[in-house]
Amino acid sequence: MDTKCMTSSAHRHKLALQPSLMTMETYVSQSRSWRVPIPFLDFLMDGKSPIERVLGKGSDRLPTRLQPEWEHFSLDEQIDRLLGIGAAEYEDGRAAMYICRCGDLDCFGIGARIEREAGTITWSDWAWKDGFKLTDPIEELGTFTFTLSEYEEVLAGAARLLAAVPSWAPPKQKML
Ligand SMILES: [Zn+2]
Repeated sequence: MDTKCMTSSAHRHKLALQPSLMTMETYVSQSRSWRVPIPFLDFLMDGKSPIERVLGKGSDRLPTRLQPEWEHFSLDEQIDRLLGIGAAEYEDGRAAMYICRCGDLDCFGIGARIEREAGTITWSDWAWKDGFKLTDPIEELGTFTFTLSEYEEVLAGAARLLAAVPSWAPPKQKML
């Protein structure tokens, strides 16, 4: 393994937040469903969505927790968590990076460790949450190290970007 590569600042990653929208089909009765919008900020790593490597672009994709419509959502709390100073959601110390569209942390999701060191933030040790534990590692996602000052700047722009999520009008209720 080329260990020099791991420590060189030339190989640090760049985080960006992208205003995004997903929908979730909700059943209001046995014969009726409607689509609920999920506005959120997606993570881009060097311009690409890391989760697409695992789940593709289709309907299996998962949103991040940067979702303003989420019950009890606090952007400051989410930013602290991404800065490695807020409490991680999962018992094993991993942070919830992508969660089920229903928004329930008890549901399945993808966690990672967020580690803060002098001048850097590192995301690593990705795993699927299956049941109560994160037992299924996701090798494809690897380790991302960011320069702390750049990373903080990106997070400081989150509120402005959340306001830029495209507006969404629900289609007519669907009859099954
Ligand atoms: Zn769910």
